[in-house]
Amino acid sequence: MYFPVKYDEILKRIEAVNPLRYGCTRNFIDGDVTYLSPYISRGVISAKQVAEVMMAKGYALSDMTKFIQELAWREYFQRTWQYLQDDLLHDIRRSYTGTRHRLVPKAMLCADTGIDSIDEAINTLYKTGYMHNHIRMYVASIACNIGKAYWQMPSQWMYYHLLDGDIASNACSWQWVAGSFSSKQYYCNQENINKYTYSAQRNTFLDQPYEELPKMDIPEVLKAVTGFNAKTNLPEANGITIDPSLPLLIYNSYNLDPLWRKDEKVNRVLLLEPWHFRQFPVSDKVIQFILALAQNINDIQVFVGEVSGISHIKDITKIYSKEHPAFVHYPGAKDERDWLFPEVKGHFPSFFAFWKKCEQALKQRQPSASELAVA
Ligand SMILES: Cc1cc2nc3c(=O)[nH]c(=O)nc-3n(C[C@H](O)[C@H](O)[C@H](O)COP(=O)(O)OP(=O)(O)OC[C@H]3O[C@@H](n4cnc5c(N)ncnc54)[C@H](O)[C@@H]3O)c2cc1C
Repeated sequence: MYFPVKYDEILKRIEAVNPLRYGCTRNFIDGDVTYLSPYISRGVISAKQVAEVMMAKGYALSDMTKFIQELAWREYFQRTWQYLQDDLLHDIRRSYTGTRHRLVPKAMLCADTGIDSIDEAINTLYKTGYMHNHIRMYVASIACNIGKAYWQMPSQWMYYHLLDGDIASNACSWQWVAGSFSSKQYYCNQENINKYTYSAQRNTFLDQPYEELPKMDIPEVLKAVTGFNAKTNLPEANGITIDPSLPLLIYNSYNLDPLWRKDEKVNRVLLLEPWHFRQFPVSDKVIQFILALAQNINDIQVFVGEVSGISHIKDITKIYSKEHPAFVHYPGAKDERDWLFPEVKGHFPSFFAFWKKCEQALKQRQPSASELAVA
């Protein structure tokens, strides 16, 4: 598994997406998933950009529905974060009373759960910074619903390692699996894992009929638990040169868009704030990935420190960043992000309520039969 960092290679990866094959195979471990999330999460490309490439290639909307729907999940989670702010990091809809601890099963950290496909996928996560969506669901289910861990700390562990780490997708997905952002907990059994990972393992703690899983006591292998107290190793703080007569553009780990205000004469600063990374630690691999992606932005300088520490910031009259719930404290104006569904905003009780509105928006965007006839 390879994650290029050069912009032209990332664009080629978008071109390679086949939404038809995606729709049929995405749940399988070798399915035709796109591996685009590290770039969408980091704001190098947008979901809108990806959908536009697909449309330009002539795919009919009906062929892309599953794919667009998955992109819409990300937007739903981002809108949820905008609405909930810090409450996103607590139980969103309801609290699960079966939780026995707030730690992480040691076997998970050590990739030693005894479920071969899961252990292999955890080792792959450590090596590559990526884990397939279906395996993320299995892992979260094992940690929270079988191991009875509260979702927060295991989600921090996963976030730490993911190149695509996205606070909204992460917290909401863990809560969806754990049942605090859905109507029920998500369970998987060994048969399901075998089917989607092409394994044939038997006699594991998950080798049970579905109705038995919620009644199970914590399996022996998940009983040992531990804390996950990681820290981020940021690059050395360095001096940067700012021209106070020019505007300042603030980039961050969620906005590394090389096309943003591309032709303007400005100061461009990638801001890595220690307080942010103390709250949401990431691995060395993730930091290296962010720094490498930033190299696609002309004349960018990296500043490690809090925003108020950027030299001359008080003297600069025009400061811009992109709107993002993690960085509301930046001074200056906030540009809109490139939403796939800018017209669908606000809070929705469920993804399907949100998706209904997205479908309406898609219909309105399609040219009518009479418009097509004129064209
Ligand atoms: C427990 C758990 C934790 C997760 N943590 C994160 C996270 O930190 N960051 C993150 O970006 N995604 C997270 N996801 C969502 C999803 O697993 C990834 O977005 C997806 O696996 C990324 O791989 P891909 O680009 O190959 O996906 P593809 O299947 O090719 O999907 C294309 C795009 O659609 C979006 N997408 C697809 N599935 C989902 C989904 N279930 N939820 C939201 N968006 C989706 C992503 O933008 C993705 O890049 C998590 C899911 C679970 C179950």
